[in-house]
Amino acid sequence: MRIFRSIEQWQKFRKEQPQSLGFVPTMGSLHQGHLSLIKRSLAENQSSLVSIFLNPTQFDNPDDLKTYPVSLEEDIKLLEQLKLDFLLLPDFQQLYPDNYLYKVQEEQLSRCFCGRFRKGHFDGVLTVVLKLLNIARADKAYFGEKDYQQYKLIKGMAEAFFLDTEIVPCPLLREADGLALSSRNKKLSEAARKKAPRFYQILTSGKSLSQMREALEKEGFKPEYLEQYDDRLLAAVYLDNVRLIDNVKV
Ligand code: AMP
Repeated sequence: MRIFRSIEQWQKFRKEQPQSLGFVPTMGSLHQGHLSLIKRSLAENQSSLVSIFLNPTQFDNPDDLKTYPVSLEEDIKLLEQLKLDFLLLPDFQQLYPDNYLYKVQEEQLSRCFCGRFRKGHFDGVLTVVLKLLNIARADKAYFGEKDYQQYKLIKGMAEAFFLDTEIVPCPLLREADGLALSSRNKKLSEAARKKAPRFYQILTSGKSLSQMREALEKEGFKPEYLEQYDDRLLAAVYLDNVRLIDNVKV
């Protein structure tokens, strides 16, 4: 695996690289959910690029950024085991030469669901993804349906700005007990981790939205939102100060 810490070096390399390229942007602390996207990219493209960048502009809560799990050495080992071709590890100064004076804003969907509670979150997400897509110059880029609203916004941005990369959605991966895989699961206490699968079980219980909200509250979750969108039920809850999101088809 070739590791690029310099965006400029990657860009130079990419210009001379004729192979088709798949791209998976991540914030690191990799788990099987991330790896499922990377495996798909490896299967569908001649070469694949993963980026790891903990993007500060998408964090509305400084404590969440400070406590976000980081495990770069383990991440690199996992990527090497998958026989990934290229890893990009940019830093803030390289990615934000404008110091975030320029940003991408979506005016509708980004204000709903997660956007209602996390001010500026999707501005940060869309801006960093546009930067990374322009840098990667990939044929296809892979995004998880775990973050369904994020996927829809990125897909919409790619269409709105005529981006030359196909945006590919990938299914949400869960633990055996139903909990959606997430880097933030590492932040759960042992007791909270035991309780966490109830979130998914309640979302799939077939009850009404208000009954589900009641059931979540009764079991110690603090629901943020619980709403239908497209053919899905989207939800965010706090469990012991850890924010969990999930979505299920209805
Ligand atoms: P993140 O590192 O959280 O920014 O996630 C990087 C990519 O992995 C995003 O496209 C996520 O939607 C995707 N991802 C995260 N968790 C899962 C999961 N449990 N199943 C599928 N994709 C996921």
